[in-house]
Amino acid sequence: MANQLFFIFQGNQLLVTDSESNPSLPNSSFIEPIKTAILRQHVVGFFDHVTCHAVEVNDTFLPPAGYRFAGLRSLFGLFDEPLISLIGKGLQVIEWDRSHQYCPKCGTENNYHEYETAKVCPSCSYRSYPRISPVVMGLIVRDHEILLARSPHFAPGMYSAIAGFCEVGESLEMALHREIKEEVNVTVDQVQYFTSQSWPFPHSLMVAFTCRYVSGIIVPQPQEIEDAKWFSIDALPLLPHPVSIARKLINHTVNSIKARYHALH
Ligand SMILES: [Zn+2]
Repeated sequence: MANQLFFIFQGNQLLVTDSESNPSLPNSSFIEPIKTAILRQHVVGFFDHVTCHAVEVNDTFLPPAGYRFAGLRSLFGLFDEPLISLIGKGLQVIEWDRSHQYCPKCGTENNYHEYETAKVCPSCSYRSYPRISPVVMGLIVRDHEILLARSPHFAPGMYSAIAGFCEVGESLEMALHREIKEEVNVTVDQVQYFTSQSWPFPHSLMVAFTCRYVSGIIVPQPQEIEDAKWFSIDALPLLPHPVSIARKLINHTVNSIKARYHALH
């Protein structure tokens, strides 16, 4: 087992070995020869007791023989989920480091904080932390149907739960009710927390809920929602990738409706 692993990014792309079905990550022996191409490097955690570093290389760096750059989404399912999560954290730390080189208050070049993932301005002491943007996601249930919608940038035929960014001043619940009303024009109650997931595109924290339909006829929000409808749990469309929180939310909800239905009949 390698004693260290390296998440080497160029922009949003990750360096992996050149295997379609079983790629792996560079280890310690890889890093020394490419030192001059490294722009920044951070320890981001441990996987299997192995120290993991996130590294950004410059634009002129070319993958050596046997390696390629790949988009993070294309690697879903090819690495263990805890490792993919850590790689996602690495991408966010690199992006934060790159975009917070100067103090946002006075423009002085920032220093790294001694032990926190933070930067400190040497002139005015202002601290800059990585940005985290909460996104609420709601799966609306009506008997044995769920409401799914598609945005124009989804893969053809794919539908998912309603989701949107939390706005300043809102609680998660307020954001959820507002997003659902705006995007599909329905009202809900019985909002129940399901789970959350960090989503590094670029720095979201997805917070998923189930809720119960109360009233309203579906009206998709122009520009945002291309189509929205009720789907029977027995006839679902193409759904998001199993690694995504949306898919976990849908699977969990469909299974609980089925369990409830079987308990009653
Ligand atoms: Zn400052």
